[in-house]
Amino acid sequence: MQISVYISATLRAFAGKKAKLEIEGKTVREILERLQEEYPEIREVLFDENRKLRPFVSVYVNDDRIGNGIGWDSAVSENDSILLLPSIAGGTPSESIISDERRKEVSLDDYEIERFNKHLMLREIGVKGQKRIKAAKVLIIGLGALGSPVVQYLAAAGVGTVGIADTGEVSLGDLQSQVIHGVRDVHRPKIASARDTIKAINPKIKIETISEVLDADNIADIIADYDIVADCTDNYRSRYLISDACVLSGKPLVFGAVYQFEGRVSVFDAKSGPCFRCQYPSPPPAGLVPTCAAGGVISPLAGIIGSIQANEVLKLIIGGGESLIGKLLVVDTWNNRTSILKVDKDESCPICGKTPSILEIENFDYEDFCGLKQDEDEIPVEGIDAEELVRRIEQGDPLTLVDVREPHERAIHRFPNAIVIPIGQLARRQKELDPDVDTVFICREGKRSILAINTLREAGYKGPVYNLKGGIEAAKNIIFSHEGAWL
Ligand SMILES: [Zn+2]
Repeated sequence: MQISVYISATLRAFAGKKAKLEIEGKTVREILERLQEEYPEIREVLFDENRKLRPFVSVYVNDDRIGNGIGWDSAVSENDSILLLPSIAGGTPSESIISDERRKEVSLDDYEIERFNKHLMLREIGVKGQKRIKAAKVLIIGLGALGSPVVQYLAAAGVGTVGIADTGEVSLGDLQSQVIHGVRDVHRPKIASARDTIKAINPKIKIETISEVLDADNIADIIADYDIVADCTDNYRSRYLISDACVLSGKPLVFGAVYQFEGRVSVFDAKSGPCFRCQYPSPPPAGLVPTCAAGGVISPLAGIIGSIQANEVLKLIIGGGESLIGKLLVVDTWNNRTSILKVDKDESCPICGKTPSILEIENFDYEDFCGLKQDEDEIPVEGIDAEELVRRIEQGDPLTLVDVREPHERAIHRFPNAIVIPIGQLARRQKELDPDVDTVFICREGKRSILAINTLREAGYKGPVYNLKGGIEAAKNIIFSHEGAWL
């Protein structure tokens, strides 16, 4: 069977100057042995005197490197290809996404030459690269933990136009990880606070603010003006919406995510690699995976991950570096482990695959996809609001309260008269509940409690169940002001 062997440019001189050879063989070893028989000169380049592959050469079968799950004796079949790549080449360098025409339209003045001196010194950036950075337009969606470092570094680096999108207000609890905001900004819109910080860092760049909620109707128009989008959000609905919009408009997306001590970064560019959907075809059930707000995050993690995101954005603009397209960088800061995982393009991906079913963004129901809509077949979960709960407790109604929050969440606002049952144990521990008494489920935001009720019903529980609407977050002021009365 003939297998295609691709020879990287720097090795071609040793293989008859050919870029591609067709070689007979059933395993990688057989094929490379035939290659050496045909082109004896390449033997010395690839292997040392002990016939071991030299450390600067990588052999790939399709996209997988030898030694990475694939061995020398792995069988190869007709459609496989082998690539010989000297590692020093550092993979495939990407081209700048800013055209030469756009680069030539901008110039750097004396102030900028002084200000960006340390970029200009870098051979990889230089004047051309800095002009590309100035010509670039980057949209940062989300001005929380990740958006804080991303937008500050991009402003400091001289990105000519930054768009910032967020609808939230700064709260005191945000300041632990959202370093773009300060104590004076509490209760201000994040967008206003971020704009002030960016202006202080670099008054010369253009800042565009987007304070409307991004949805299927407006996102395509909003991202149309930008070269790159940085996803710094913290919920699945936004992530799918942003990724789909980027795929359909052909924009690269620099993705970052943080949770507790672990962070992830990837670059999704459907033109040359996978998209977010290829990696995560469907979201977990709503409320099952807590966001940072509910799961916690160590303060500097967002700085680490956001800085890598900003670095990836700059590399896409400058061109020439090896990007995280098709790769997922995972950083575990608790154990100091970093890994780069390969992300494959899914040929059956509904948006970037061979026969896509999502052709325009307006047609896709993000609320439904992310489990945020009530399933019509499901019995709706009845809610109870905080005032009602307090009233019933105060008048001594028989009630069972079940708290499904994580231990660290319970430590902040305790419910001493609630039974604590994690969602995973509900089915097994349903005997602890009295089916003749109303049971109210409590979580942080009122979403995991719905999941808990559905899980319990699935397990056959028939008693009356209620969800505390909006969870502790919505109810804390009312409930805890009554603390002395009934807890
Ligand atoms: Zn895809």
